[in-house]
Amino acid sequence: MAGITLRSVIKSFGGNRILHGVSLDVAAGEFVALVGPSGCGKTTLMRIVAGIEQADAGSLHINGREASALRPGERDVAMVFQSYALYPHLTVAENIAVPLAMRRLNAWQRLPVLGGTLPGTRGVRGGIAAEVRSAAEALGLGALLERRPAQLSGGQRQRVALARAIVRRPAAFLMDEPLSNLDASLRVQTRREIVDIHRRAGAATLYVTHDQSEALTMADRVAVMQGGQILQVAAPRDIYADPQDLRVATFIGSPRINLLQAEAGADGVLRVGGVATALRTAARGRLTLGIRPEDLSLAPQGIPACVEAVEFLGESLLLHLRRDGTGLVLRLSPDMAGRVPAIGTEVRLEFAPQRGLVFGSDGAR
Ligand code: ATP
Repeated sequence: MAGITLRSVIKSFGGNRILHGVSLDVAAGEFVALVGPSGCGKTTLMRIVAGIEQADAGSLHINGREASALRPGERDVAMVFQSYALYPHLTVAENIAVPLAMRRLNAWQRLPVLGGTLPGTRGVRGGIAAEVRSAAEALGLGALLERRPAQLSGGQRQRVALARAIVRRPAAFLMDEPLSNLDASLRVQTRREIVDIHRRAGAATLYVTHDQSEALTMADRVAVMQGGQILQVAAPRDIYADPQDLRVATFIGSPRINLLQAEAGADGVLRVGGVATALRTAARGRLTLGIRPEDLSLAPQGIPACVEAVEFLGESLLLHLRRDGTGLVLRLSPDMAGRVPAIGTEVRLEFAPQRGLVFGSDGAR
């Protein structure tokens, strides 16, 4: 299969197992975002694909070739990291040209008769110049080709790093938090540029981020990783609305999903603190009910809770509640601003049964 295929990848550092059998497919033309808490193994997995680390077991295919034994330069992947790693003494054009010059140099060195003569890496010449210009223009750097990195803003530097990655036309892009050094508005703008580049290149893109809104807005599919395992891989909408695991449900979504202790008897009616809800479930016994903040609403009857605080966010209103020691959050329309119940009031909550997510004691749906 074209793209990236990882199967049962295991990796330990000094007896500490970091990756516990990770399998993941990124098809050619597909954008997969890898998200998960700090230390869960995202960067390690990327480094294995790039060839900077070796897996202890498992397989890696890049564009259909077993790649584990290939050197990083032979893998046909381009990496973009958080730190731009530009050469400070080279101009923008020269920085972008580096991978092409290296490729030429490699080809040159393979010719024994010509070996030792270095084609121009200083200054950008010939066929390389056209490729550099087209990559630079794709990223709006056309007017900055003669500048050096110190004369660029952070966003411009990151774009040079991106241009340097696309100029190679690789089979796959590996991006590890490439936007985390940019300020908020530039980050949002550059998101679109990266997705654009990905679409035009038609390569497989594996993109690590700890910013879930980045993952949900950019990716075709989101892979949620925790403790060295991938818990679920699904389209952004499904990972949010249909998480298959309690850990996925709690990791994705801000504010966090509401979790309530619940139980279902022989009749299958889900009860919260003895109050029957409209939800019927095939599961029985003690369960956890998950409801997103926008799926809970105030009602004349339902689950009782006490208002603790109100937060006005502009586009919505958050009502913070407490029931039985558990904090809950409701997202309301900002029109409700003048009509929210006073702090300390007891209110009742309901939810549409199809929006309630029921998890068993093992955390699975
Ligand atoms: P973050 O989001 O913070 O970047 P991550 O999910 O990318 O985290 P990794 O960088 O892959 O996590 O690290 C996973 C674990 O492996 C961490 O506990 C880290 O300390 C450990 N680790 C990573 N590289 C090495 C190494 N070379 N030697 C020893 N331990 C390492």
